[in-house]
Amino acid sequence: MDQSTRMNVVGQRYNYWNVIDDADPVLYPKGNPTIPHRAVVVKCVCGTVRSVLLQNLRNHRSKSCGCMKAYMQREARK
Ligand SMILES: [Zn+2]
Repeated sequence: MDQSTRMNVVGQRYNYWNVIDDADPVLYPKGNPTIPHRAVVVKCVCGTVRSVLLQNLRNHRSKSCGCMKAYMQREARK
């Protein structure tokens, strides 16, 4: 993989995720044809580490590991 064409996102923050490393590309969708999507290793504010698709961070489909979603639902019920 040509590193020079890959934007460095390590250290960037997307909502509650902090990008801590690059991950292996994910083949998505499953089946044919498969297209490799860039994935990154992210760490949530709560400490959970997970690999997610970079596009899901960029379009805000993934904002946290789920802890903040639960937190916001709890807050909404108050
Ligand atoms: Zn979390």
